[in-house]
Amino acid sequence: MKNEPYKTYLDESELPQAWYNMRADMKKKPAPLLNPATLEPVTAAELERVFCKECVRQELDNDTAYIPIPEPVREFYRMYRPSPLVRALVLENALGTPDRIYYKFEGNNTSGSHKLNSAIAQAYYAKEQGLSDVTTETGAGQWGTALSMASAFFGLKCHVYMVKCSYEQKPFRREVMRTYGAEVTPSPSMSTEAGRRINAEFPGTTGSLGCAISEAVEAALKLPNARYLLGSVLNQVCLHQSVIGLETAAALEKLGEKPDVIIGCAGGGSNLSGLIAPFVGRKLRGESDCRIVAVEPASCPSLTRGRYAYDFCDTAKVCPLAKMYTLGSGFIPSASHAGGLRYHGLSPVLSELYDQKIIEATSVGQTRVFEAATLFARTEGTLPAPESAHAIRAAIDEALRCKESGKEETIVFGLTGTGYFDLKAYASYNDGTMDDTVPSDEDLEKGFAALPKMEKA
Ligand SMILES: *Cc1c(COP(=O)(O)O)cnc(C)c1O
Repeated sequence: MKNEPYKTYLDESELPQAWYNMRADMKKKPAPLLNPATLEPVTAAELERVFCKECVRQELDNDTAYIPIPEPVREFYRMYRPSPLVRALVLENALGTPDRIYYKFEGNNTSGSHKLNSAIAQAYYAKEQGLSDVTTETGAGQWGTALSMASAFFGLKCHVYMVKCSYEQKPFRREVMRTYGAEVTPSPSMSTEAGRRINAEFPGTTGSLGCAISEAVEAALKLPNARYLLGSVLNQVCLHQSVIGLETAAALEKLGEKPDVIIGCAGGGSNLSGLIAPFVGRKLRGESDCRIVAVEPASCPSLTRGRYAYDFCDTAKVCPLAKMYTLGSGFIPSASHAGGLRYHGLSPVLSELYDQKIIEATSVGQTRVFEAATLFARTEGTLPAPESAHAIRAAIDEALRCKESGKEETIVFGLTGTGYFDLKAYASYNDGTMDDTVPSDEDLEKGFAALPKMEKA
């Protein structure tokens, strides 16, 4: 095996002081969120009914490139950051590739994923505002876990609406959240109007993220001193996640490496936005031409087969409209195992970057994803989250292509989390019963037909 450094750690003193806002360097900005009733851009005042004040300010700020990370947030970051940039030497060896493959590992905390990076920031702003409660949704459970941890840290009561199929499939995830003091409700529930309506319309439904969002927003509006926090998609979340990319860029610099390709999995788009942020900045400023690849599941292909259009963010249509690559808010993907990648749309920032061809996208089927996950576990040792394994799959495919063509590249991918709560999915792969269903064009048309008609009244 090559005798080169395996892990690159930054010192604590190198932990970023500020988040980087890609929007500041975009000539054409992402489209604004719209009020669904008036189709006018939403105002800060409207958003502040649902979201924390400072988060709204960050959401709407398209101009400030660097936003300081508050000291209490940096203190919390220090418990698990800077996270390591790891050279996948054993995997490279197994593949026989001439490439150098690096991964930024974000699973090194109890929540098991990158989601803690934004959870702690949002919980801090909620506390600063004097709130007592926060509400949220969770699909696979990682965001709910991260926010439960962050809420415990700042003494906030956390109410989590968990997509019912995950609630039933992942009882241990639920217990982690409860251990951190959160109240966890399966969604759709009967305790909100949105939940009752969805239950009545689709009896026996196992829920969706869009539906859980509707419930959590409604709950935030009904509680006396609460706001709703969201774990992905929004500009503010992408901003907080830039800590991943800033550390990655600093570590690569230490190694004297320039990435040729950066690869990340894309659900709502937060980890990918974060990982690529400084590299996108360089591309936008004409300083780099590295490739950036978003990887999505073939079962929920919002970039590769979706439409770039204004859409609802949630099932009950209570949230603002966002312009994004989307499959339609009514689209319910087949029971794919990568729970964190099942959202119908992709963050407006990433959608705009994709439309401008700054980033590219590919989709991969479930069985090939778990093949890659298994190879990664057996070589690099870490049991990856199924979501992360989408990026692993694409990185391996890239390395194999290079091996064939004799090209030598530096590949960087995001290992967003660990898969200890996803063993049902691993079991179905090991048993050979994994489902590779991909939506037909007809299935997708149904989703597109439900896109909002954008005619002003
Ligand atoms: C939530 C999650 C994702 C996908 O969410 P993004 O917002 O697209 O980053 C990916 N990996 C893990 C481990 C997750 O928990």
